Amino acid sequence: MKDPICGMEVGEDSKLKSSYKGKTYVFCSANCKQNFDKKPEKYAKS
Ligand SMILES: [Zn+2]
Repeated sequence: MKDPICGMEVGEDSKLKSSYKGKTYVFCSANCKQNFDKKPEKYAKS
């Protein structure tokens, strides 16, 4: 799975996850997760 913030490949077993509109996103770092959680509509792709 791809980190939507920085584009890095992240394993599906990552502990850094967010759900948005029924989809799950994974992140390489807490920093990326925070950015996503602030503005998910900016990063989420349908
Ligand atoms: Zn990242």
